[in-house]
Amino acid sequence: MGTYERHRLTDVINAKGTNTALGVSRSSAKVAEAVAEALPEFFVMKELGDRVSEAIAHATGAQAGAITHCTSAAITVTIAAAMAGTDPDRIAALPDTRDMHNRVVLPAGHAVAYGQSILQAVRLAGASVVLAGSENRCSTDDLDDALSGSEITCLLLVSSRLTHGEPVDLTAAVRAAHRRGVPAIIDGAAQFPRTADLLATGADVVLISGQKYLASPTAGLVIGTQRLVRAVRAQENGIGRGMKPTKESTVGVLAALEEWQAMDRAKWEADQAAKVAAFVRAADEFPGISASDLPDPTGLPLSRVLLTVDPAIDATALAAKLQIGHPPIYVIADDAPAGHLVLELVPLDDDEIEVLVTRLGMELRATEKPPV
Ligand SMILES: *Cc1c(COP(=O)(O)O)cnc(C)c1O
Repeated sequence: MGTYERHRLTDVINAKGTNTALGVSRSSAKVAEAVAEALPEFFVMKELGDRVSEAIAHATGAQAGAITHCTSAAITVTIAAAMAGTDPDRIAALPDTRDMHNRVVLPAGHAVAYGQSILQAVRLAGASVVLAGSENRCSTDDLDDALSGSEITCLLLVSSRLTHGEPVDLTAAVRAAHRRGVPAIIDGAAQFPRTADLLATGADVVLISGQKYLASPTAGLVIGTQRLVRAVRAQENGIGRGMKPTKESTVGVLAALEEWQAMDRAKWEADQAAKVAAFVRAADEFPGISASDLPDPTGLPLSRVLLTVDPAIDATALAAKLQIGHPPIYVIADDAPAGHLVLELVPLDDDEIEVLVTRLGMELRATEKPPV
């Protein structure tokens, strides 16, 4: 009996991408095996921490790395590290930040919510947020103004589809922080394949979710300078305790990084492009929609399928029908009021894609008006 039957759970087709509410990603057999091998064993956890630091450095070119429970935890712990460093008294005092620089600058358009507001992940460490610019625009001057305030401990930036307004020039923003002598942190949780680009901005650390495109067990990767990474690890004796990495997630990250480095990335990208192209060709034949290839807006090396739905059909209703059928199919419906549904195919196998295409065709033919 499988997990679904044993625990009376619903097997879904997830065309929503790395979605937390749907279990995020699928780890490979190799990663699953590494985790299963680690679970019954003891380890010197500091050694595991050192090995994962070396592996992250090797895979990304950064000086060092650490992991936390997830990226939300990594945000809180990295902000704590920026305020308390490795000072045991300060680490023990958090979230009381009375004698520390405790203000975090964040572009207003980067105040994203990923199920939780990023502002809360910052406040959890005892810091407060200074928003720079407006939702629509944050110039380097706006950042400079905010960074010149008192008690600034770091600059926090987000690289994600969730940000609002004109894109912030991340490299210029990092430079502005460094001119003020404070570190820059980038939350790139769903940007694992772009880690190198984000590090190239000069950011002190980049935060990445292991369970998103790396497809490891749940983990927040903190990737960057020796100094800040050391301070992040030091928080495990403070507020980082409840956000600590596990032996199984650490071993899973090690296995996933190894697989990622051995992978033929050009082939991976070509395979993803072929899946999207075949889906677009098939879906474009259906009545009531047109299908096209939608490149990732942040520059991830993958496209999604964009379905433009006739107003007469109603994209919201179509998404709802896909979700209540068997198996339930989840698609990205954020822009459904404008008639757009988006599908991410990356983790789906051929059989699932076939079911998806068939069901989409059935739902659309069912809503098609008979010819007069
Ligand atoms: C998913 C996400 C997070 C949270 O990551 P977890 O690993 O689930 O805690 C934070 N920031 C952004 C931009 C995200 O997409």
